[in-house]
Amino acid sequence: GSVWLNFDIQPAANPTSATDRTAKLANPGFGRVFTDHMAIVRYDQAKGWHGARIEARANFPLDPATAVLHYAQEIFEGLKAYKRDDGGVNLFRPDANARRFRNSADRMAMAQLPEPVFIEAVEQLVRADRDWIPGGEGSLYLRPFMIANEVFLGVKPSAEYIFAVIASPVGSYFKGGPAPVSIWVSENYTRAAIGGTGSVKCGGNYAASLRAQAEAIERGCDQVVFLDALERRYIEELGGMNVFFVFDDGSLSTPPLGTILPGITRDSIIALAKASGAQVREEPYTIEQWRADAASGRLKEAFACGTAAVISPIGQVRSASGDFSINGGAAGPVAMGLRKQLVDIQYGRAPDPHNWIRNV
Ligand code: PMP
Repeated sequence: GSVWLNFDIQPAANPTSATDRTAKLANPGFGRVFTDHMAIVRYDQAKGWHGARIEARANFPLDPATAVLHYAQEIFEGLKAYKRDDGGVNLFRPDANARRFRNSADRMAMAQLPEPVFIEAVEQLVRADRDWIPGGEGSLYLRPFMIANEVFLGVKPSAEYIFAVIASPVGSYFKGGPAPVSIWVSENYTRAAIGGTGSVKCGGNYAASLRAQAEAIERGCDQVVFLDALERRYIEELGGMNVFFVFDDGSLSTPPLGTILPGITRDSIIALAKASGAQVREEPYTIEQWRADAASGRLKEAFACGTAAVISPIGQVRSASGDFSINGGAAGPVAMGLRKQLVDIQYGRAPDPHNWIRNV
């Protein structure tokens, strides 16, 4: 390999004790417990990508005029490492995250990290922190991200970047099996317009979704679902998950790519459903049609999907123009079957016909 592929491994001088780690892993929750190390790669125009390291997780010293703090030139990814029953470790489709990260960088006018460097950074961090991967239904959530690091207040693409990966052990998202979620249809706020940044994973998209998500919580719902910005009718996606619909003829549909995040779980579900003989359509679907199909019984199930929760059945839909429920508010067999298929592949309990798993 090239020089920049050689990560300088600097183990933490004061790692967490085994006792403290075990205590933290017993009940990690989501996103508040972190491992001992991080991966870092730097970019500047003179040296290109350089300084690849695994080192002790630590603060970044940032000048107050650092570009990311002002103009939000920032992108990120999310993927997981799973501990297999035989003690090995699986990554699920890290190449797909690496590709999406490059697309995000392109849209945000940032330096593009070569995909092999992204994958190597993730793998080296998993190796350094493999004792932090929970057993059972838990996993190690990996968060690659990149920030604009130039100290300059002009509005222009930064000349310097920091790419880093941090890791956070997470428990099973749902204790005792996935509980159906309720969702609030946002009619006041939209997430993405044609030509905007909806299809990339930049921090600004999430900042702009928080007010709508807060409104969902105020209305007693778990999550917000966004409509398209032009006609305000077509279902797009949830704040952090894609969405699928299951019909009485056994077919599935999901909103087409364009202004939504191209979810890796979404793509995997399309492949699994097609392989099992189901018809899958990527087509626009309106909120009015959703309501009518739920009432007529043509719609059997709806579910959300993403790396964090895999598949969450949607039980209730609430909006300013009325509420409806799906499948009597219960989890349906198609969602649960696809969930099991996917989870079994991720944990190495089933064959991997699509070549999605990377052993670390
Ligand atoms: N949509 C949005 C807006 C998201 O943040 C995510 C999580 N990355 C998803 C969909 C699901 O994507 P994936 O299946 O790749 O996790």
